[in-house]
Amino acid sequence: MSQNTAPSTQTPEELDVVIVGAGYSGIHQLYHYRKQGYSVRILEAESDLGGAWWWTRYPGARVDSESPFYQLSIEEVWKDWVWTERFPCRDEVCEYYQHVERTLGIKKNIRFNSRVVSARFDDASSRWVITTKDGFVVHPRFFILAIGAASKPHTPPFADFQSFKGICVHTASWPEGLVTKGKRVAVIGTGASGVQVIQSIGPEVKHLTVFQRTPNYALAMQQQKLDKEIQQKSKRLFPDMFRRCRQTPNGYSFDRYPKSLHATTSEERLLFFEDLWTAGGWRFVTNNYMDIFSDQAANDEAYFFWRNKICERVHDPMMQEKLAPTSPPYPFGSKRPSLEINYYDVFNQPNVDLVDLTQCEISKFTPSGIQTADGVEHTFDIIVLATGFHTFTGPYTDLKVQAADGTDILEKWANGVYSHLGMTVHGFPNFFYMYGPQSPGACNGPTCSEVQSDWIVGCISHAMKHRFTRIEATREAEIEYRRLILELNARSLSRSTSEPTNFKGDLAQYGRLCAEVTEDGYRGFVFSSQVESRALL
Ligand SMILES: Cc1cc2nc3c(=O)[nH]c(=O)nc-3n(C[C@H](O)[C@H](O)[C@H](O)COP(=O)(O)OP(=O)(O)OC[C@H]3O[C@@H](n4cnc5c(N)ncnc54)[C@H](O)[C@@H]3O)c2cc1C
Repeated sequence: MSQNTAPSTQTPEELDVVIVGAGYSGIHQLYHYRKQGYSVRILEAESDLGGAWWWTRYPGARVDSESPFYQLSIEEVWKDWVWTERFPCRDEVCEYYQHVERTLGIKKNIRFNSRVVSARFDDASSRWVITTKDGFVVHPRFFILAIGAASKPHTPPFADFQSFKGICVHTASWPEGLVTKGKRVAVIGTGASGVQVIQSIGPEVKHLTVFQRTPNYALAMQQQKLDKEIQQKSKRLFPDMFRRCRQTPNGYSFDRYPKSLHATTSEERLLFFEDLWTAGGWRFVTNNYMDIFSDQAANDEAYFFWRNKICERVHDPMMQEKLAPTSPPYPFGSKRPSLEINYYDVFNQPNVDLVDLTQCEISKFTPSGIQTADGVEHTFDIIVLATGFHTFTGPYTDLKVQAADGTDILEKWANGVYSHLGMTVHGFPNFFYMYGPQSPGACNGPTCSEVQSDWIVGCISHAMKHRFTRIEATREAEIEYRRLILELNARSLSRSTSEPTNFKGDLAQYGRLCAEVTEDGYRGFVFSSQVESRALL
């Protein structure tokens, strides 16, 4: 038990499954275990449903997956739900989660305000001992971590960070009622949340300074209001649509264009690029020529089309160079691009400037703002940290997941992450995680989590049916899976020089691999039965 945790005064429940996190992943899991009659509970840190969207409250927060795809594929839920916008805002996603509750009545299986702080496997009973911050303890046979990839906000170690006397907020913890209108504001970071905050507050602040390390190759969202009748009519295709999403690289129903860019004329390419751009959203990345991600020349061509689009909107040549450099700083599409509505227009405003951190770094925070390496002190009322999250193994730093001998999962991963299928770990029996290290990345969240969720449900059902009390990945299987990830990374244009954090193939390939493992009698797993010989500590 964690030293900071108050001892439990209750008799711990013995459940079949405990899931941590009530986002899309956790709810999909809960739905299926309930259906099979297993005893199951979700432990959720927050006070209500919504997953990442519950605490994402910064101005302009919006999904950049198209709405038909950004929902659960559970028929009871989708049949009576319609979205108002093609790319829904945060409040609409939270309302959708309440619809999930009205339809499925899941809250009775969820313990809210229950932040899990530790989980340890008990060898003798083959059960997990899971403890929350308020001292609640539960003993499930199977333990599923569905805490998302973005639960630990990242703040860079700025010098004299605490000295700033104004308001400093991270986008992950935006305070209720914070007014930016008429204020001098800094936004540090131009990733997904940075782009959304900048375009939302840019038109109304007194002055905005954007601190940019890497330009975001943001794509035109082409937002639309959605018609209720048209959506209702399209529902007859939903089962096919959800199945189709799993057959594509990124978890949407659309796929790469099955033609090489080099097999086309320049006229054909231009018209095709224009069509994708007008279709909006991610189409310019996901529907583009098949060699965009494997051939540097093809990738460059997509980049320069994008660059021209941005330069048509940004008037000042120096600003153009900062936002869309003549020489691409990284391959097009290798980082998840954001979707924008008026992001680039904001930079035409006289009250907006951009500091390129590759040319001039932040030296320190001061009582009145930020000092940069050129000695200039920028004065602000509000500093917004749009600096993202500790992804990869970051979410595991506040939650101790321990093997029976006390080894923490982060110790095991200290010299590189080893997992089987980005869901299970040797030495940690009956433990499954979703949307985490070595899981697929850069794809539609709900599709990815459902692919994993279905596989986990199948695996646990197999164990329950055959009365196995223990499932464990073999060391050989995780070595093999890591080798595959490194191999895929080496072949990719967007290969990372450090350890790849995700499965570097596409979602369809990942789904096929999971299916093969199952068909091969759960290749790489050992199932066994242990008699419960002693009570849990
Ligand atoms: C700002 C933002 C924008 C995003 N936009 C998109 C997008 O446009 N498209 C897309 O596909 N994906 C997007 N994502 C990714 C998003 O996480 C997934 O789409 C989806 O929410 C994943 O669902 P999940 O259930 O796996 O995780 P989450 O939705 O993150 O839910 C995890 C839950 O676990 C809970 N939790 C965490 N730690 C603990 C703990 N120790 N104890 C108990 N509970 C805990 C959290 O409170 C949360 O409710 C975005 C994420 C963020 C943060």
